[in-house]
Amino acid sequence: MISQYVFGPVPSRRFGRSLGVNPLPRKTCNYSCIYCQLGRTPRLQTERKSFFQTRAVVEDVRKALEKADADIDYITFMGDGEPTLAANLGDMAEGVRTFWDGKIALISNGSLFHEEEVRRDVELFDVVSPTVSAGDERTFRQMHRPPRSITLEKVVEGLRLLKEENPGEMWAEMMLVGGVNDSLTSLLSIRKVLREIGPDRLYVAVPTRPPAENWALPPSRESLRQVFDVFPEALDMTEPEEGPFLRNEEEREAELIEIAKNHPLREDQAFEMLSMSLGLEGARDSIARMVQEGRLVAVDYAGTTFYRVPLERTFGKG
Ligand code: SF4
Repeated sequence: MISQYVFGPVPSRRFGRSLGVNPLPRKTCNYSCIYCQLGRTPRLQTERKSFFQTRAVVEDVRKALEKADADIDYITFMGDGEPTLAANLGDMAEGVRTFWDGKIALISNGSLFHEEEVRRDVELFDVVSPTVSAGDERTFRQMHRPPRSITLEKVVEGLRLLKEENPGEMWAEMMLVGGVNDSLTSLLSIRKVLREIGPDRLYVAVPTRPPAENWALPPSRESLRQVFDVFPEALDMTEPEEGPFLRNEEEREAELIEIAKNHPLREDQAFEMLSMSLGLEGARDSIARMVQEGRLVAVDYAGTTFYRVPLERTFGKG
């Protein structure tokens, strides 16, 4: 089964074996982060709306769970953009809860929690993982390039309220880009807003896949050492994830394309997925063919080759 809405399970540094759920069309986002692994956002989406039918998404999650060949640690709503823009996010979580009593997580840029209905929509989630990568307005705008209507003050207030009202855990993610938000001044201002919000965990991440702007590089080792001095409690998520991706023998190429749409694959991961059934030579031929047909593009980043799906292949279909 190849689903437009569900992918994986994929190995996640935060959520173990994670079944990804995508509640909106590709690159539907109200930010255009410099480090985004999906590329620049062509047009910012600021209004919430129901992009996909709740029933179709929930049904695909159910089928994917039936088919999964191993334990799933989390069902993770993450999307090819900002999942809280899906106005039916809460309904989807409710639908999934009718057959899944395991953990549900949400990865979000954290921008919309100042809206009460968005906070209500995530009541059924065990974990909400929002981005907190800036402690001052200038850096916030430089990192995320949000619309004018979204300010850091609003975001922090929304997250503070979410933490206060929501029974689930909050695991904040701090994405660091060298020369943009890794100075001591920046780190201290991020620490200040994190103290206001009070997340249960803090993860430190750096760009590990090709970013929207090729100058958005990870901080130096020295700078990262300073980060962990300022945030001794932080969990390190700066290394690429390990572990096998799901192999679907019958539809392996289509499965790979689905995962690569929002999860660019390192060369070794793409080979691993295909070589189990095709052998090394076959995997190499298959990848070369998909690149030649324009279904995948190879991108070099930090000395590693990644494969991702060209954006233009999916725009306008949502
Ligand atoms: S990183 Fe996330 S929040 Fe930022 S532009 Fe990409 S999808 Fe949107």
